[in-house]
Amino acid sequence: MSKQVRVRFAPSPTGPLHIGGVRTALFNYLFAKKNNGVFFLRIEDTDQNRYVSGAEEYIMEALEWLGIAPDETIGKNEKFGPYRQSERKHLYKQYADQLINSGNAYYAFDTAEALDAHRKLEEEQGNTFIYNHHNREKLDTSLVISADETAKRIADGEHYVIRFKTPVNETLHMHDIIRGDVKFETNLLDDKVLFKSDGMPTYHLANIVDDHLMETTHVIRGEEWLPSMPLHVLLYRAFGWQAPEFAHLPLIMKPIGNGKLSKRDGDKMGFPVFPLDWKTEEGVSSGYREKGFFPEAVINFLALLGWNDGTEKELYTLEELVEAFDLSRVHKAGAKFDPEKNKWFNHQYLVKQKDEDLAKAYAPILAEKGFNVDQSVLIKVVSLIKERAHFVSEFWELSDFFFVSPTSYDEKARKNWKDETPTLMQELISVVEEITDFTSMNIETIVKDWMTKNEIGMGKVMQPFRLSMVGALKGPHLFDIVEVIGKEETIKRIQKAIAAL
Ligand code: GLU
Repeated sequence: MSKQVRVRFAPSPTGPLHIGGVRTALFNYLFAKKNNGVFFLRIEDTDQNRYVSGAEEYIMEALEWLGIAPDETIGKNEKFGPYRQSERKHLYKQYADQLINSGNAYYAFDTAEALDAHRKLEEEQGNTFIYNHHNREKLDTSLVISADETAKRIADGEHYVIRFKTPVNETLHMHDIIRGDVKFETNLLDDKVLFKSDGMPTYHLANIVDDHLMETTHVIRGEEWLPSMPLHVLLYRAFGWQAPEFAHLPLIMKPIGNGKLSKRDGDKMGFPVFPLDWKTEEGVSSGYREKGFFPEAVINFLALLGWNDGTEKELYTLEELVEAFDLSRVHKAGAKFDPEKNKWFNHQYLVKQKDEDLAKAYAPILAEKGFNVDQSVLIKVVSLIKERAHFVSEFWELSDFFFVSPTSYDEKARKNWKDETPTLMQELISVVEEITDFTSMNIETIVKDWMTKNEIGMGKVMQPFRLSMVGALKGPHLFDIVEVIGKEETIKRIQKAIAAL
C-alpha cells in the first residue's frame, strides 16, 4: 500500500494572506481531497523579526471562510504537533548537530563586519561575494579550526551560525510535477545558514525537518520557492531521508503589463488582493469577503488561475474541483489576474443563491435606509433584479424605485413624454383603478387589451408609464414592478408624473 498523501500549507505569519497564498492553500486542499489525503496547516514563525500579530488568526479565519479549513493544525487533530514552528524550537538543534556530525554542515563564526569586509573586497574586483566552496576554507569556520577550538568558542558564548556544506561539482537532477525534470549545478549555490546561536533554525532547516517529521508527501508551493528546491533536495539527501515530491505553482500576474500581482495593482484598479479585510493603524486593506464576494466564487476563480481541466468548463463547486483537479495539469506560465472575470464569477454565484437568502442579505441594507420591507416582497424584488447584479451591495441602486417614488425624471427619457401623454396617462389611471387581481400578468393583459382596443401604440404608453414608475427607462419587466408597488402607489406615481412633466 502506498503512503497516505499528506500536504501542507506553510505560511509565515508576516501579514494578511495574499490571494496567491490562498491559491497555494487551495491547490494543496484539492490535491489532498482528490487523493483521500490530509491537508494540514503549519505556521512557519521562526523569523521573529517578521512576525505580525493577528496574521495567524487571519490565515485560519480566511481558510474557514473559504471552506478549505485544514484537517490538522493548531488546536485541531494535532497528530504531528505542535503545528507552530516556534513551539518546535527544541526539535531542530539535534538535526543541525546531525548534519555537523555527518560532515554536511559546519560552524561559522564570521561577524557581520568581517562578512561586510569580504563582500567589499570581492566587489572591488568586480565579483559578488558568495559564501560557498570558493571561500569557505578561508573564512572563520570549523572547517579550518580544530574541533577543540570550535568547542571552546561555542562554550565561551561566541555567536555562530551553522551552514550547510553544499556539495561541489555536481549536477543535481530533480523532478517537479509541474515543471518536469529540472537540472541544477550545485556550485552555484551558497552555503545557506541553517541554524543560529540564538537557538532558532532558519526557514530551510525547519521546513525540511518538519516536512519529514510531519510525513509530508508532496510540497506544493509558489514558484518563488523554486530556487530553494536544490538546497532542499540536498538537505533530504544529507539527512538520509526520502524527499517529498515537489510542485511549484505559477505566479499570479498583474491584470495589465508584466510582473507579479501586487497590493498596489488592487488599490489602483479597485479590487482586493486579500481574502478578508486587514486592519492596521494606516487603514484597511479590503478583502473579498467584505467586498461582497461569495466564498464559492473566490474558490472558483482562484482554481482557474493556472489550472483547467482541459475543457471549456468554468463553473465548479468545490466538490467538482476536487473531482477534476490534476496537479500535472497546472500550467508553467504565470496566470493573469482578471478582476472583471472575478466579478462575473460572483454574479454567477449570486444568481444561484436562494431568493430567500438574498432577501435576508438585502434586508439590513434597506433597514439602514429606514425601510422595513416585508420578506415576501423582498424575495420578489431580489428575484427581479439579481440577473443584473454582481453583488448584494448593488441591489439598492437596482431596486430603489420599488421603495421610493421617483424624485426626478431622467433628462433623456423625458422626450418620450409627449403632448398627448397626460391624457393617455389619465386614461391609464382609470384602467388601473378597475383591476382587482393585481398581479403582473393580469395587469399586463388588461393594459394591453385597452391599448389594442383603442389603437394606442405600445411606445406611447409603455415608456411614459415606466418613466412614471422608475424615473428612468430602466429596470425589470414593467408589470412586475407595478405588481410589487401596488395599485395605490402606481396611481399616485402616474399622477405625480403628470404634474411634474
Ligand atoms: N513559510 C514559507 C512561506 O511563507 C513556506 C514555503 C514552503 O511552502 O516551503 O511561503
